[in-house]
Amino acid sequence: MDIGEIIAAKRDGRRLSREQIEYFVGAYVRGAIADYHLAALLMAVYLNGMTWDEVYHLTMAMRDSGTVLDLGPVGSATVDKHSTGGVGDKVSLVVAPLVAAAGVPVPMVSGRGLGHTGGTLDKLESIPGLRTDLSPDAFIGQVRESGLAIMGQSERIAPADGKLYALRDVTGTVGSVPLIASSIMCKKLAVDPDGLVFDIKVGQGAVLTTEQDIRRLAGLLNRIGRAAGMKTVAVLTRMDQPLGRAVGNAVEVAEAIGCLSGEGPKDLLEVTLALGAQMLLLAGAADDETEARDKLQDMLRSGAGLRSFREMVRRQGGREEVVDDPGQLPEAPWRLKVSSPGTGYIGSVNALEVGRISVRLGAGRQQLDDRVDHSVGVLVHKKVGDAVSKGEIMAEVLAGDEKRGLQAAKDISRAVVISEQPPDVPSLVMDIVEGGGDEPEETIYR
Ligand code: URA
Repeated sequence: MDIGEIIAAKRDGRRLSREQIEYFVGAYVRGAIADYHLAALLMAVYLNGMTWDEVYHLTMAMRDSGTVLDLGPVGSATVDKHSTGGVGDKVSLVVAPLVAAAGVPVPMVSGRGLGHTGGTLDKLESIPGLRTDLSPDAFIGQVRESGLAIMGQSERIAPADGKLYALRDVTGTVGSVPLIASSIMCKKLAVDPDGLVFDIKVGQGAVLTTEQDIRRLAGLLNRIGRAAGMKTVAVLTRMDQPLGRAVGNAVEVAEAIGCLSGEGPKDLLEVTLALGAQMLLLAGAADDETEARDKLQDMLRSGAGLRSFREMVRRQGGREEVVDDPGQLPEAPWRLKVSSPGTGYIGSVNALEVGRISVRLGAGRQQLDDRVDHSVGVLVHKKVGDAVSKGEIMAEVLAGDEKRGLQAAKDISRAVVISEQPPDVPSLVMDIVEGGGDEPEETIYR
């Protein structure tokens, strides 16, 4: 097969066959076609979209680029969760241990930062020594014995996703419904939990910014789950301002530990409980949402969720003392305060800008082979709706050097709007979508 012809077919808006899709995925993983070929093809998909058949074959080809696990040895219904990506989104670090502590094993496979959004793996790796490249046997064994393991897609698990994800990150092809759906589902299907809850984010800090796009994505993800025999449900949540107060890597781990210790913050807890409840419901561990939420709150109050987190850190080789003393996480050498230019209320905090600022500080990647600096990031002390006085500290920048820190502090000031009146702060959870994806065959997903 000729990759040039495949690129040209997609460029001209034609449908790719299953064979063409399997060819380019396999050839890219083997190194038989170049990054520039795939970059051109991804851009053509981004612009011209894919039909249901193409998305399904792409997902399966990416899944089959590595091993498909058998979670049978775990011995009970398992459930996972996946976010389409946001700014300050450390929900996985909180919800996975809570659900595991409530008795439902969580075999979690996570991603790295993508575009301006952070990734669970990058955050976790700020814990000294912690490994996310678990072998399939070690992963399954850990889930069986302790109820929770978090790994990344790897050379063994959906390697095609790792390569495509990294390329999308630096080629402006992140925000595509078919590419997001196949990327999420290939690695989840490779691990094959019984149930999967999606956190589909919408708003200026999300990968997709319109409600129409996220509803299409929700339907498409549920449709792939249905076709592959996995129970799924999608929770649609707002991502206009960063979630919680911390944006970065180590700072987000510290905030997740705080949350598991019962110290909020409120918005992080709101999304965590909404997703966690759906996870328990999918696994049959609660009869209704109220019971599911009560169980999760019990896990928080009793400290069982925090113990589960600690156990995961210990088993994956991380320094477990960070759970008692997050001060042992990497700390940035520069801390710059950003004060309010006026008195009033925080009207908006532009999550997209805060995400970009955090990436420029080094918390994410601008080039394919950039190394992440786990210590840097942003702390948003004042959230939308909070009252603020002139000169009061509204944010802090954690930087590796003074020059980048000063620039980031200026940029943060521009990302925050102060208003005279308190703004409306809508509920973060917009909807819960089961099923969907029943558009006609010829529908093009973009
Ligand atoms: N999460 C993923 O795994 N892939 C995407 O493309 C977006 C979010």
